[in-house]
Amino acid sequence: MAENFTGNFTQQEPIPEEAIARAVEVMRSGRLHRYNTLPGEAGEVALLEEEFAEFTGARYCLAVASGGYAMGCALRALGVQPGDAVLTNAFTLAPVPGAIASAGARPVFVETTEGLTIDLDDLAAKAEQARVLMLSHMRGHICDMDRLMEIAQAHDLSVVEDCAHTMGASWAGVPSGRHGAIGCYSTQTYKHMNSGEGGLIVTDDAELAAKMVILSGSYMLYERHRAAPGPEAFQRVKYDMPNVSGRMDNLRAAILRPQLPTLRDRIARWNALYRAMETGLEGTEGLALIARPQAEGYVGSSFQLRLPGRDGAAITDLVARCAARGVELKWFGAPEPAGFTSRHDSWRYAGRQDLPKTDEVLATLLDLRLPLSFSEADVAQIARIIRQEVLA
Ligand SMILES: *Cc1c(COP(=O)(O)O)cnc(C)c1O
Repeated sequence: MAENFTGNFTQQEPIPEEAIARAVEVMRSGRLHRYNTLPGEAGEVALLEEEFAEFTGARYCLAVASGGYAMGCALRALGVQPGDAVLTNAFTLAPVPGAIASAGARPVFVETTEGLTIDLDDLAAKAEQARVLMLSHMRGHICDMDRLMEIAQAHDLSVVEDCAHTMGASWAGVPSGRHGAIGCYSTQTYKHMNSGEGGLIVTDDAELAAKMVILSGSYMLYERHRAAPGPEAFQRVKYDMPNVSGRMDNLRAAILRPQLPTLRDRIARWNALYRAMETGLEGTEGLALIARPQAEGYVGSSFQLRLPGRDGAAITDLVARCAARGVELKWFGAPEPAGFTSRHDSWRYAGRQDLPKTDEVLATLLDLRLPLSFSEADVAQIARIIRQEVLA
């Protein structure tokens, strides 16, 4: 009898008891709105911002309603106008081009390497078309950030980093989100901290920070922030920025704060699962693993593999055979968008763009989640099943 995997690929760990207790306290207080504070009281959101700024080493931090909101807010603060082109990765998730579209702007997609990162030659070639790059560290793969920032500086491109999959990751020791002008994170359930929905933004730039605070819906209560610039920064921007409400509330912040000190530990556990998967799949004929550069400090919360040379029918068949044994693989080459997986040609509002290199990579790219509810033994079993089905 062939073995089957019985775990659940979308099952995250429970919210820690300490976080549940704090959430209950917030609910008992009735003060869920971030600015509904007693005299002298900081509020959970302001404290989370202060703690996340410290975690990333950023001067300023703003908590918002979602990762997608964070990205749209960053683009507005940078002055992106309707009709502007914004460069972004062709391989990313729907909320990224969606954030660009939410500002009325036009996504211009940049090609993808076999390492699943943005193609820096294509970026250099397209750099003159835009003032802003929305750089997505899709599935946690980080490109050569030193070279990327050189290209950005040479072409006067402002960089916003989408760190939905790189919270806690780094490049050459610099935290992900700290290379560009603005770093955006998501605390949606499938990311590295879980508040159901939520987003965090970091920057060192006082003017951008003040603009984003007003945009997020601070009314004139911005002095209640702790990880924000002083009142002089707001004097300059408060009449010009619209209120596009997207605040985080105290309940979500209360759920997140106790998760932050455990993030390092959880990253170590994710990476142990990632290495167990790599070990289990290494040397499988017909299967290519994604190389991880030395300078990349990654968070292995998901795993990607390629099956070079297989056509769509062969991959559809393999995905079905793995699914029958309890192993859920997502295929980025599928012609129709399904579940969480869609790709550039299904974002038709962006207009058709010719991306042959990305299409070639996505045609044989498979993806799976590694939730922390899995053990290393679970992962070893998943790897055995994939290996057997690839070789079958
Ligand atoms: C999840 C995700 C986001 C933003 O997510 P929200 O669901 O809006 O919080 C952004 N980029 C990528 C690559 C993502 O996977």
